[in-house]
Amino acid sequence: MTPAELDKVDVLVVGAGNAACNAALSAHEAGATVAMIETAPKDARGGNSAFTGGAFRFTYSSIDDLLRLAPDIADLDLASIDFGTYTDGQYFDDMGRLTEYRCDPELTEVLIGSSFEAGLWLRQQGVRFQPALGRQAFKVGGKFKFWGGLACHIFGGGQHLVATLHDRLERVGIPVLYDTTATALLRGDTRIDGVRVRHSFRQYDLRAGAVVMACGGFESNAEMRARYLGPNWDLAKVRGTKYNTGIGHRMAIDIGAAVAGHWSGAHAVQWDMNAPPYGDLSVGDRFQKHNYPFGVLVNARGQRFLDEGLDFHSYTYAKYGHEVMRQPGLFAWQIFDAKIVHLLRDEYRIARITKEQADTLEELAPKLTGVDTAGVLETLRQYNAAPRPDVPFNPNVHDGLRTIGLPIDKTNWAQKLDTPPYHAYGVTAGVTFTFGGLKATTSAEVEDTSGMPIPGLYAAGEILGGLYFHNYGSGTGLVAGVVFGRIAGQQAALSRR
Ligand SMILES: Cc1cc2nc3c(=O)[nH]c(=O)nc-3n(C[C@H](O)[C@H](O)[C@H](O)COP(=O)(O)OP(=O)(O)OC[C@H]3O[C@@H](n4cnc5c(N)ncnc54)[C@H](O)[C@@H]3O)c2cc1C
Repeated sequence: MTPAELDKVDVLVVGAGNAACNAALSAHEAGATVAMIETAPKDARGGNSAFTGGAFRFTYSSIDDLLRLAPDIADLDLASIDFGTYTDGQYFDDMGRLTEYRCDPELTEVLIGSSFEAGLWLRQQGVRFQPALGRQAFKVGGKFKFWGGLACHIFGGGQHLVATLHDRLERVGIPVLYDTTATALLRGDTRIDGVRVRHSFRQYDLRAGAVVMACGGFESNAEMRARYLGPNWDLAKVRGTKYNTGIGHRMAIDIGAAVAGHWSGAHAVQWDMNAPPYGDLSVGDRFQKHNYPFGVLVNARGQRFLDEGLDFHSYTYAKYGHEVMRQPGLFAWQIFDAKIVHLLRDEYRIARITKEQADTLEELAPKLTGVDTAGVLETLRQYNAAPRPDVPFNPNVHDGLRTIGLPIDKTNWAQKLDTPPYHAYGVTAGVTFTFGGLKATTSAEVEDTSGMPIPGLYAAGEILGGLYFHNYGSGTGLVAGVVFGRIAGQQAALSRR
């Protein structure tokens, strides 16, 4: 369908990723006529959501909860798996700690309170879940133990999620207009009543009773990254889509919307230094390198610059990309020995990888492109020589196996690098999504600068600001998209009555 063929609808959704699909399906369920506009062509639809690994952070208090989401778990040897629990309280603690207590308390309460239900809703749409064994729990002493509040992933990751949701859209008859870019919001007398779009160099005004903005962050826009995130961020790799360029932010600000969230903040991880400038769906999220807690990270001078073992990767990965961005040349190398190879995630075994290997550290050092050989050897000598408490290595807990007396101590999992072969991975910063967005109520209504909801305008997903500051707990983005997507769709549908 093209814009010229679209009649006025009750709810027009801008975007076709996770938040948009859930908003559209929810509005449809509430009895509204719905259409979606997607700037990308069909084969690149779905924004960042298609690139995700599918981590999904929800509350659960027992195995019974998990079985409702992922019935296949019943086929596992449950006696050898400790799923633990992830309560509202633990989720709140994590959100508070990670955002330095800046996350909007009301939005956070809605996110956490509806997180499990969001999983059940996705299951109703046909999305499958699987236990995150080996990603969020390692086998130690014959038993898996979950450590990061993340028990399940979406089976097949973002590609399964997006394909399943779009199948559902098709089955219920919600049209998606591809290659159609929203460029401005249309104001009626009393409310927002449509969107101006560009399609094949032509402009169209599409009328609607209400509009849901679910068009992602501005991570794909180098100019906006440099302007808001600061120097050199225009040089960062983009982990996902090239289509989230921040037009939605500007459209809303132009009609008086208020902003919220950490506009100079973003989710950024360690990403293969030779990855392409934007994400590649055939590789998905696997240019990431998240197992640094079990190794040593050095910069061009051969120096360590952070505590690799500060916390489980789920709680540091999204801010450590910023640390790499502060290093000379905007890169670093992760160095490991043979002791931890069994713990490495599949992203360390892909074909397109910047990897070096050697049987001695002396042989490995000169192979690390851009790194001062003498500097790194001295750093590794000091690291291996540093005193440590006599405690066992255990990747499932904060084991306290730390160095003592280094300029920056490694506070957990600080095994010596003493077992060849040694291997190293070259990384730079990969930006995932930007934290700055639009101010919205708990009903996903976008507010104006006087604090009043703008009639007919809703937001969900990355563009909804106020949840993330400084850092982010893995698996929260997709949940937030489902929770506020559903609310936005429902409220938009109800608002036209
Ligand atoms: C590699 C990678 C791995 C990730 N892994 C996870 C994970 O495991 N778990 C998790 O919770 N989160 C993960 N995330 C974060 C997650 O992707 C996002 O939080 C979430 O998918 C955002 O969903 P969204 O619907 O807001 O935006 P998107 O999915 O990005 O969708 C935005 C949509 O808007 C469209 N669009 C943009 N501008 C316009 C316009 N002007 N007009 C029309 N359409 C427009 C885009 O083309 C796109 O379809 C990951 C992200 C990346 C990049």
